[in-house]
Amino acid sequence: MSAYDFDLFVIGGGSGGVRASRIAAGYGAKVAVAEAYRLGGTCVIRGCVPKKLLMYAAQFGMALEESKGFGWQVPDASHQWESLIRAKDTEVDRLEHVYEGLLGSAGVEVLKGKATIVGPHEVRVNDVRFTADHILVASGATPELPQIPGAELMMTSDDVLAMEHAPERIAIVGGGYIACEFAGIFKGLGSSVWMVHRGSKLLRGFDEQVREHIGSQLAANDIQMRLASTVDAVERKGNAYLLYLAFGEILEVDLVMAATGRRPNTDGLGLERVGVQVDARGAIPVDSYSRTSSDHVYAVGDVTNRLNLTPVAIHEGHAFADTVFGNRPRRTDHDGVPFAVFSQPQVAAVGLTEEEACAKHSAVRVYSSTFRPMRAALSGRNERVLVKLIAHATTDQILGAHIVAADAAEIIQGIAIALKAGATKADFDATLGVHPSVAEEFVTLRDARISSRRGNDD
Ligand code: NDP
Repeated sequence: MSAYDFDLFVIGGGSGGVRASRIAAGYGAKVAVAEAYRLGGTCVIRGCVPKKLLMYAAQFGMALEESKGFGWQVPDASHQWESLIRAKDTEVDRLEHVYEGLLGSAGVEVLKGKATIVGPHEVRVNDVRFTADHILVASGATPELPQIPGAELMMTSDDVLAMEHAPERIAIVGGGYIACEFAGIFKGLGSSVWMVHRGSKLLRGFDEQVREHIGSQLAANDIQMRLASTVDAVERKGNAYLLYLAFGEILEVDLVMAATGRRPNTDGLGLERVGVQVDARGAIPVDSYSRTSSDHVYAVGDVTNRLNLTPVAIHEGHAFADTVFGNRPRRTDHDGVPFAVFSQPQVAAVGLTEEEACAKHSAVRVYSSTFRPMRAALSGRNERVLVKLIAHATTDQILGAHIVAADAAEIIQGIAIALKAGATKADFDATLGVHPSVAEEFVTLRDARISSRRGNDD
């Protein structure tokens, strides 16, 4: 018999916490998971899933327009935001029940309420104390508002996914994943959209050529870009809002959305009581086995601010359970993880950017192509695809792949397998294309330029 109520107490019922709970329970551990809001966490309740459903809705709106070029006579169509949100809510409810069912059938006890660590091996939920041999913190992250006057008037992605009416005019502050994705959603649903970003390019950390390209594509989609622009203040004006930009411009819109990053959920968790350190951003530093600075406390997912993506959190949770309860030490490989921004068009990548590749290797070959996709020949949309490969100049191994295109997310998954397998440019060249497709460009790229800005180690 264990001296504790539970072998594992998981704080947070999102993707990482639920996977860790189920796998640990499968190894025979007695597991509890505490969730303050709804099972499923950011991804299911207010992130990937609802966002993608809204993205599909936006794509239908754009397709209606484009279909005219293909001979369709489209009567004036209007979109009903409320029915979309109701349908989305039904699907999210369904998925939440699926999560509940999975935990129930795995024998995991679900506790509804905010969990606080109150002592070594001790957690409190709704004034009830539980003891546990191990604690896993999987509490995720929350949208953060910028610190400007009127910030409280801004909505975050959480609010937007629950609001009752779509805005006619929306300003989105930020230039990251969420800003780009929601700009496409609202544009596709018929709003006038402004993106206000403090940087001169969107998507910091992405390949520079990709950043240029997506910026020009969003502008071509009539998203009104205000780059290198900061917001001084937001004010209410009747039912509208005024956004004061640093260079004197004032935007009047019906909704201001802050997409200015997310903060790890560590406040009030009681981590200090068990010696778990957090960094300046509030994230929990962990080792490659997701162990914190306290021996029996682990952390996975966005709260660790490593690579804030659902499949990564799931893998980290699974690897933790295998390591601690399955006697199979396993780490998550954070290299070569593919990712996608579900903007219109989408941006997807795996491996190194050109800048990272140049910093790491003495010389790389860069293959890139921009072209008008066949669909745009008749759709009337001013759309251009970017496909880019980066190869090691001497070993020929592909170091990075990037694409800006419709369905880029679907394309990059297969390319990621090739990169994981160590494919060379010659392997890509030896593969025949699927014709006519956008993806075939990855196997037909021919002309390279050598890039070697800061080469060093090899
Ligand atoms: P990001 O970190 O991607 O973007 C935040 C943006 O806000 C950046 O452009 C940043 O500018 C800007 N910003 C930050 N602080 C301020 C400020 N005070 N004033 C003005 N602008 C500011 O965060 P997101 O919230 O968009 O997404 C969080 C994370 O969630 C992502 O990084 C990603 O890991 C994950 N995610 C993944 C998705 C996917 O897989 N499709 C979808 C959504 C989120 P700057 O660049 O100058 O710092």
